[in-house]
Amino acid sequence: MLLTLPQRCFKFLTAVRNTRVKLQLNAAVRRCCSTVQGDVRVRFAPSPTGFLHLGGLRTALYNYIFAKKYGGSFILRLEDTDQSRLVAGAAESIEDMLEWAGIPPDESPRRGGSLGPYLQSQRLNLYNQTAQQLVDSNHAYHCFCSPQRLDLLKKEALRSGQTPRYDNRCRHLTAQQVEEKLAQGVPHVIRFRLEEGVEPFQDLVFGWNHHEVAQVEGDPVVIKADGFPTYHLANIVDDHYMRISHVLRGSEWLISTSKHLLMYRALGWKPPTFGHLPLLMNKDGSKLSKRQGDIFIQSFQRDGVLPEALLDITTNCGSGFNTNQMGRRIDDLISEFNPSKITTHSALLDLEKLPEFNRIHLQHWIEDEERCRLLVKDLQGQIQQAHTAEIQDEVLQEDYIRRVLHLRKGHISSLKELASPSYSYLWVRPSLSSQQVAAVTAEAQHIASLVLKYIAERSGELAVDRLSKDLKTLAKQTKATKYREVMKLLRLALSGLQQGPSVAEMMVSLGPVEVNHRFQKLLQLSETD
Ligand code: GLU
Repeated sequence: MLLTLPQRCFKFLTAVRNTRVKLQLNAAVRRCCSTVQGDVRVRFAPSPTGFLHLGGLRTALYNYIFAKKYGGSFILRLEDTDQSRLVAGAAESIEDMLEWAGIPPDESPRRGGSLGPYLQSQRLNLYNQTAQQLVDSNHAYHCFCSPQRLDLLKKEALRSGQTPRYDNRCRHLTAQQVEEKLAQGVPHVIRFRLEEGVEPFQDLVFGWNHHEVAQVEGDPVVIKADGFPTYHLANIVDDHYMRISHVLRGSEWLISTSKHLLMYRALGWKPPTFGHLPLLMNKDGSKLSKRQGDIFIQSFQRDGVLPEALLDITTNCGSGFNTNQMGRRIDDLISEFNPSKITTHSALLDLEKLPEFNRIHLQHWIEDEERCRLLVKDLQGQIQQAHTAEIQDEVLQEDYIRRVLHLRKGHISSLKELASPSYSYLWVRPSLSSQQVAAVTAEAQHIASLVLKYIAERSGELAVDRLSKDLKTLAKQTKATKYREVMKLLRLALSGLQQGPSVAEMMVSLGPVEVNHRFQKLLQLSETD
């Protein structure tokens, strides 16, 4: 498309401006990150109103790697001020999941720390003191409006097509009126007086930002009628007293930040630096659903997903790194993290790729002596559960399972696969009848002896390519049985099945000792004929 001269000039100037904004932002990030070395304190502040899901894990992870990259501390604070929405077990589980994921907090409800407690319900005094400080300096006031009045206001606004907001009526009560109502014990809340003239702030990700909150909202409640603080107050009080240097949180909070900054200003506190992380969405741009229970960390854990795979996939779809590559472990994430690369657009998560991520990290685990032992234990349990009584002790031995893991690494995406029916031949010795054997060939005894001789002559492990060739040669030594029938018999002796992996592959996976055992069995069966 041909552009006119003014259009071209406009395009050029826009490009220059965008580049300048980007450069300024990068410089701001560099400045902030280079000057705060050692003083970085970041926090993950979930509400225990539900279990940890992928979105939360991602926020926690970015905070963790930010802290570790700049030699700082990562704090877990549980924001449990909405007592009516607490979910039993969620608080414990959130901390368990962070530990499971390999991003444990340095300070937390469980671990403690010098600036705790880390549970908001245990810090009520601090919020009340601060609210009083705001009331004393006329930045907050008591509001005695009844729920009925507020409801009416809301209905009227909706009827006239307006966004409901509190009309700030109690701002205008005299000191004496307030005294009287308090003395009479009229239920009340405390509201923060929103001022006009919000100062812009530079967000690490979204750049310059500012929302004239007073123009769109009524004065927000900071202490509720039950004496508990609301999120906005508790959050800034804790960030201040816990000496949080950087607030890295989901972009849904960007719009609230101006309100928070007004509170910091009213209290005379220096605010932290803010960085809002773009949302995590499905590959098609739709919202990640929590309802099906499929994005809760516990369900991934239950399904045999490795923590490294989960961290890898959540950082891979988003931003904050110079390159996107699979197979990064936490130390790689820390060293390669570059906050100036966090983009403002949503991160699209392709969960269909999770098995691929898990396959790579499962291989890393198998190659690590210590972790492999954990896998062996896990698999032992899964095999026993899947195959109950038919299991022989030999196949539950650590050495046997370890061998199988090393042979299958790079091919399997999850341990569960090994406990599934397609691998049952590894754990369950087939129970054959002499009739089954005789139905395949009358030369079973001869073939079994050939295989046993072959195995006995091989010292050490078997290899698939070599074995495939040798089996062909071996099949030629039979008189009346075709190659296909020989293979059928071998498959039967090894697995009791008609189909499955190649005979050579099964023999390699089973190893010489187990193969020997299964062909001895075949020999016995064919001798009794
Ligand atoms: N409790 C808030 C949440 O669950 C914390 C938001 C923030 O990090 O400030 O999202």
